[in-house]
Amino acid sequence: MTKRIAILGSTGSIGTNALRVIEALGGDYEVAALTAHSNVKLLAEQVRKFKPKIAVVANSDKVDELEALLRGVDIEIQMGEKGLLAAASDKNVDIVIAAIVGAAGLEAILSAAKAGKTLAIANKEPLVIAGELLTETCRQNNAKILPVDSEHSAVFQAMQSGGAKEVNRIILTASGGPLRGFSAEQIQNVTIEQALAHPTWNMGKKVTIDSATMMNKALEVIEARWLFDVPVEKIEVLVHPESIVHSMVEFVDGSIIAQMSAPDMCLPIQYALTFPKRVKGITRHLKLEQIGKLTFEKPDMEVFKALKIGYQVARTGGTAAAVFNAANEAAVKEFLEGKIKFVNIIELIEYCLDRHKVKSNATLEDLLSADSWARNEVRECLKRKV
Ligand code: NAD
Ligand code: MG
Repeated sequence: MTKRIAILGSTGSIGTNALRVIEALGGDYEVAALTAHSNVKLLAEQVRKFKPKIAVVANSDKVDELEALLRGVDIEIQMGEKGLLAAASDKNVDIVIAAIVGAAGLEAILSAAKAGKTLAIANKEPLVIAGELLTETCRQNNAKILPVDSEHSAVFQAMQSGGAKEVNRIILTASGGPLRGFSAEQIQNVTIEQALAHPTWNMGKKVTIDSATMMNKALEVIEARWLFDVPVEKIEVLVHPESIVHSMVEFVDGSIIAQMSAPDMCLPIQYALTFPKRVKGITRHLKLEQIGKLTFEKPDMEVFKALKIGYQVARTGGTAAAVFNAANEAAVKEFLEGKIKFVNIIELIEYCLDRHKVKSNATLEDLLSADSWARNEVRECLKRKV
């Protein structure tokens, strides 16, 4: 049966890879909806090629431009948050690939969950902020989550070889990012170019900076906690610079099951689309003899403090993760605009967490208000310092 797919964030790194995967899969996979924030030129090209029924531009200022680019094309054009929610829950959509960056994707994912869609989630931030709410909404509406983040796809694949109760530990691997091995002193003067120069993965800017701070791994620990419903104590992180083992699951008998492949997001994207089947794809096959050896080391949580704070946040629960994530999003934006230093990112996150009064049993409103509170704190703090 044909699977009809909506891609939220089709113009980004994950979104464009998802379209390559769908193109290669051919016949049984159809693009039903595409959404982008502002890059209407690329969105229009994608629409002409993949012929979805719906195109959404989240930035309403760009809708006239998109309409002009698509004059004469048979398509329903929508805009803003409302358009995103409509695309995510449309009755002609079976699978929603969530590939927006940041908290901005939260409400669209929730709307897909309420509509009982299959959710292929790359957009980890909504799971971090609202993991409990989101997984519960999926349960109530029979919506399935299939992870696209490479580590979580690896864990999900490894999980197929044992029962949930037989899991002893989840071991998430981390490339270590471009600053692996840096000392606390060296990290003081990291430039934007250095932080963006990821050794093994080619990704959007925000997630690349998160890899440099290791905030990405902190977010992924929380993501794994919700996706696999395990206490955070059972989730470990190992630095694995080759990025060949994408993560592992240790079972109670001591067996460790690892998933390996070339570092290419097309594979986890494809697995989420074809699960439970595996099909031939576009990811290059590995020749292990050319790699020679695989290495693993403990992360340095004193230099890369984000990871240590991430564990604390995961244990705290409630609104803490919403603040952790939002402060990071706001700080990364400032860093990418050249307004703050690399080390200020983590300082701003700590500043917000210190001042936040955590609310447990958080509702969506509580989480959204914690998110905007943290963004505002970052702004105010920087205003005072200037
Ligand atoms: P990206 O910046 O390349 O693309 C983001 C997409 O979201 C674009 O299509 C953009 O138009 C859209 N978007 C941005 N802001 C928006 C907003 N406010 N409203 C609506 N749409 C908006 O990002 P990416 O690297 O593709 O990452 C997407 C998500 O996947 C992130 O959560 C990231 O952590 C996760 N992820 C990415 C990779 C990767 O290889 N890139 C790997 C694992 C996980
Ligand atoms: Mg990842």
